[in-house]
Amino acid sequence: VERWLAPWAWSGGEQLVADVAIDVAAGRIAAVHAGPERGPDPNRVHRLDGIVTPGFVTAHSHAFHRALRGHTHAGAGDFWTWRDQMYRIAGTLDPDTYHRLAADVFAEMLRAGFTCVGEFHYVHHRPDGTPFADLGAMEHAIAEAAEVAGIRLTLLDTCYLRANPAGAPPGPDQRRFSDGTVEEWARRAQRVASAVASERVRPGVAAHSVRAVMPDDLRTIAAVATDLDAPLHVHVSEQRAENDQCLEAHGVTPVGLLERAGVLRSGTTAVHATHLSDEDQTTVADSGAGACFCPTTERDLGDGIGPAFELGERGVAISLGTDSNAVVDPFEEMRAIEMNDRLRLERRGVHPPAQLLAMATMNGLAALGWGEHQPLAPGSPADFVCIDASDLAGFDPTDGVGGLVHAATRYNVSDVVVGGRRIVASRTNTTGHSPASLHGVIREILDEKDEA
Ligand SMILES: [Zn+2]
Repeated sequence: VERWLAPWAWSGGEQLVADVAIDVAAGRIAAVHAGPERGPDPNRVHRLDGIVTPGFVTAHSHAFHRALRGHTHAGAGDFWTWRDQMYRIAGTLDPDTYHRLAADVFAEMLRAGFTCVGEFHYVHHRPDGTPFADLGAMEHAIAEAAEVAGIRLTLLDTCYLRANPAGAPPGPDQRRFSDGTVEEWARRAQRVASAVASERVRPGVAAHSVRAVMPDDLRTIAAVATDLDAPLHVHVSEQRAENDQCLEAHGVTPVGLLERAGVLRSGTTAVHATHLSDEDQTTVADSGAGACFCPTTERDLGDGIGPAFELGERGVAISLGTDSNAVVDPFEEMRAIEMNDRLRLERRGVHPPAQLLAMATMNGLAALGWGEHQPLAPGSPADFVCIDASDLAGFDPTDGVGGLVHAATRYNVSDVVVGGRRIVASRTNTTGHSPASLHGVIREILDEKDEA
């Protein structure tokens, strides 16, 4: 048994708990004691000199979008013009570059305090749409990247077959995303699911959006999720244009279409859920589905502000995602949920800080199929982070978690433990990954894009 000692810890409430000892055995939390206890063997006692919280979760990520950071964000245009730039990056990836990029992106997430990522993955095949010799080459590249970086991963294998809700075939930039038919997607996804599953990697499935799959495809995707007992994610109503196109093609909103196809249910996560009507919100709540908000990306792309307050009131569990990874900071996502709603509703204190922390931790784990985790509770995998409060001058831990949620940044995260192993020590990855290695692989990918 290894013992981790911390002066303060968050275990779910609005207050922090003082002097906590966390015993870890075989990668799981064996016991949590209050009080400054010492283990019998001093060699097995580790100090975390700060505030310990469960590891943060980015429930919606596209790792390769990270290569766009700093290159598209200052420009004009909209979601759709940004998407063309994103497709040019997607066009350069092969299993080797994707493996190296994803490993460094996951390492950056770990430095920021994320211990679990939901990778919404749709770059399945060669740029011309033909399969790699190893049909799961890209998927294995990502799963192995998570293993080497030391992050917990749910690989959401995404079905992407169409260019719009009317059923147009994928364009040249989208060919490598498509398996051709939903049956081919299902066969590949099921094979990949059993190949990637490990202690730290779980399979999940996704329908890209109502733009990219037809209603009958949705039924098949839901059946595969049931079969694998895996979470199901889908982009929903990120843009008003998606609602308009869906209404025109199917006479119903994206939420209505998903509901009709039996996709909305417990275990399903509606990603973005930005432009939902009152009726849509009730439909999502009644279905038992969750919603994943990605506010730093949604604001970057000019998507709009989603109804976090209204969905929360209706009992919908909200998780958070870094999506395009232009910002990789759990505190930024938490604060953006609250600040967006302050601006929208013209009042303060919309979401209690402990609820924001739950969105960034437990709700994300539940959305990614790791729902057995509870905040620093026995039996849960030993995933936790230490936030160095010495930078937060004036912060008083006895005031509760509000000061932490509203003042800290990713740069206050000093140590990160995943499955009982210290993956980040004093702000440095113990796996050899660094900001410099991430920079190197991004330069390589951008140079290739410019040559193409
Ligand atoms: Zn996305």
